[in-house]
Amino acid sequence: MEYDVIIIGAGPGGIFAAYELVNKSEKLKVAVFEGGHSLEERHCPIDGEKVKACIGCKNCSIMNGFGGAGAFSDGKYNITNQFGGTLYQYIGKEKALELMHYVDGLNLKFGGEGTKLYSTANTKIKKLCLQSGLHLLDASVRHLGTDINFVVLKNIYNYLKDKVDFYFDTPVNTVSIKDGKYAISTPEQVYTCKQCIVSAGRSGSKWVEKLCSELEIPTKSNRVDIGVRVELPAEVFSHLTDELYESKIVYRTAKFEDLVRTFCMNPYGVVVNENTNGIVTVNGHSYENPEKHTENTNFALLVSKHFSEPFRDSNGYGESIARLSNMLGGGVLVQRFGDLIRGRRSNASRIEEGYVRPTLKATPGDLSLVMPKRILDGIIEMIYALDKIAPGTANDDTLLYGVEVKFYNMEVELSNNLETNHKGLYIIGDGSGVTHSLSHASASGVYVARNISVGI
Ligand SMILES: Cc1cc2nc3c(=O)[nH]c(=O)nc-3n(C[C@H](O)[C@H](O)[C@H](O)COP(=O)(O)OP(=O)(O)OC[C@H]3O[C@@H](n4cnc5c(N)ncnc54)[C@H](O)[C@@H]3O)c2cc1C
Repeated sequence: MEYDVIIIGAGPGGIFAAYELVNKSEKLKVAVFEGGHSLEERHCPIDGEKVKACIGCKNCSIMNGFGGAGAFSDGKYNITNQFGGTLYQYIGKEKALELMHYVDGLNLKFGGEGTKLYSTANTKIKKLCLQSGLHLLDASVRHLGTDINFVVLKNIYNYLKDKVDFYFDTPVNTVSIKDGKYAISTPEQVYTCKQCIVSAGRSGSKWVEKLCSELEIPTKSNRVDIGVRVELPAEVFSHLTDELYESKIVYRTAKFEDLVRTFCMNPYGVVVNENTNGIVTVNGHSYENPEKHTENTNFALLVSKHFSEPFRDSNGYGESIARLSNMLGGGVLVQRFGDLIRGRRSNASRIEEGYVRPTLKATPGDLSLVMPKRILDGIIEMIYALDKIAPGTANDDTLLYGVEVKFYNMEVELSNNLETNHKGLYIIGDGSGVTHSLSHASASGVYVARNISVGI
């Protein structure tokens, strides 16, 4: 079977690339190969009753399938060059913003109309932050919410399904070069194409590494972010979340001058497990529908670790720390801030007696046995700094779930067209190490698709 373009991975990068390709030229023969399930077949078995924690499915429905890692996410599309990736370094700041706005328009067209666009422009919160040594990053954020995000994905799929060949539950094993074309091998069959877009995301990071080594595509080692997810009563952060929804705040610690930042803020949301290649970490999301709101807000506090030669396995470092928490807690650990400060583990009764009701069933424990001291010290310092702009953050009952790890792919060496050293082979989205977010990954897909359609 031969295609003009084959896309590997049906996350936001792959989906928006497919959309733009068929939109620009209906004649193009495009296929998308996805290792995970179709959207309607994606179900995480955790139901809070029979299955309370991650059981380590071989194919994690949270991370894989149509919609990629973003399908059950909070659907926060941040329109900014200040975080979420370094796409602007390849295509320029203006172009990157233009494409993120374009994707926002498509999300509205496919079911997101009526959702709110928040912005940091002219906010007084910036001044409040600066007065406490905190820095609020600039962004506009469209909050689709987990529910509307799902609707948007469903509508995009319905639009694309007759124009693009989708192969679900079909992981690509290898990509090889034959007679100037790309041979895409799946467990059942080999397909060929003239141009190939790899958009394998975070869950495909090891596979992309293998691909790069087989095809001699240069990569450089990257970073890993390690931290905890904080959960507290929504009132504590409501003056920030009501106005901005998500605030990306950065703090430089006094002790080590490390940067600690807030990440993925979910007002009235829930804390969830995330399973990456069998390692259980923590994440969070929230719903647009007020009926599904909880009484809590959650967000991550993360510290970035960059490694230099000879150590190249930054993800391996993050995995080892996550594995330690899995070993001690059988999954994610939870600890009250007050217990952490007093140097004692949390136990079931201390959590039960606390005033913050956990939204995730995690094992009460001691995060200081898991997290490197330098990282934990930074997180504690930031909690006290946040307490100045949102009093109550440093309350004893504030819950910390660990560990939250943001794995990054090796950064692939790419041209400004996001093309590898092989003509017609593109690596985009989180799998390239260039993007780390829904909006940047989606924009990278549109960008590459436009370049391909111009050349055809
Ligand atoms: C719980 C959760 C919440 C999140 N919330 C947000 C948020 O609110 N805002 C935000 O900006 N970001 C969020 N993110 C991150 C965001 O989802 C990612 O940045 C984004 O999905 C990256 O898009 P992508 O297309 O590059 O990769 P992905 O979405 O990871 O998609 C890659 C796809 O490729 C498939 N794949 C991998 N290898 C192969 C292979 N060999 N063959 C075939 N298929 C393969 C995978 O199954 C996957 O479906 C969240 C992530 C998670 C897990």
